[in-house]
Amino acid sequence: KEQAIELRKQFGSKVTGHDIPLPIGSFEDLISRFKLSKVLLENLIKNGFSEPTPIQSESIPSSLFKRDIIACAPTGSGKTLAFLIPMIQNIIDSRNNNEDEVQLRGLIVTPTKELAQQINGQINKLIENLNIKSGYLNKSLASKFRNDNNKIKNSKFDIIVTTPLRLIDLIQNTKSLDLSKVENLIFDEADTLFQTDFLSQTDEILSHLTNPKLLKNIYSATITSHVEELANNIMKDPIRIIIGLKEA
Ligand code: ADP
Ligand code: MG
Repeated sequence: KEQAIELRKQFGSKVTGHDIPLPIGSFEDLISRFKLSKVLLENLIKNGFSEPTPIQSESIPSSLFKRDIIACAPTGSGKTLAFLIPMIQNIIDSRNNNEDEVQLRGLIVTPTKELAQQINGQINKLIENLNIKSGYLNKSLASKFRNDNNKIKNSKFDIIVTTPLRLIDLIQNTKSLDLSKVENLIFDEADTLFQTDFLSQTDEILSHLTNPKLLKNIYSATITSHVEELANNIMKDPIRIIIGLKEA
């Protein structure tokens, strides 16, 4: 506990909400506290991720405790891994509890195609040897879903990374992408994600995410009024994590 307070002081982090879990001091802590997959830990180390950044130290335990999160941390502070590590671990756990059935369990919505592609690349490094499949919803994948010929059932994917409009275009026009099993939703770069028309886009996406166990995560570099509004509208009892910003 004192260690946690010390870590938070050191990181300049401000964490608010009910029942906030202690931050992690190392990725190895996740093995004892959450039975993190050893393969996932190996993949982290292999890719040069030896110590968690402050946002990772705070976000990962909260997500693994299945809490909604609104996280704000500067650009370059490691927000991607902060949401990917718990998402992947939660998928491993869900599959272990459901006879290894593959379902679309993770959905990451991000403002640009480049970013979506990058995140999907990052995921592919982390899921090596884990028998998990992730896809970036580009034009060609979207049209495969649309012309669903049973070769590419969405049940083949555990994770989809997409821009909001590509996703909305697909779910409004066909029923070929089933979002009803999604357990973990990320809005990445939320400050730029929904600048115009943002509530109608989030509403549209959320209306298809009907799993009662859905976890919602909002990641952003700055907290704008849009981000606040979004968080207040969609989250229940979230944990707010603010790293390295002066208090207003
Ligand atoms: P953000 O989304 O907050 O802008 P990114 O997730 O894109 O930041 O990460 C920025 C850079 O830091 C990336 O090159 C990433 O590989 C690296 N990085 C992230 N986490 C760690 C870590 N725990 N150890 C070392 N490098 C990391
Ligand atoms: Mg980012």
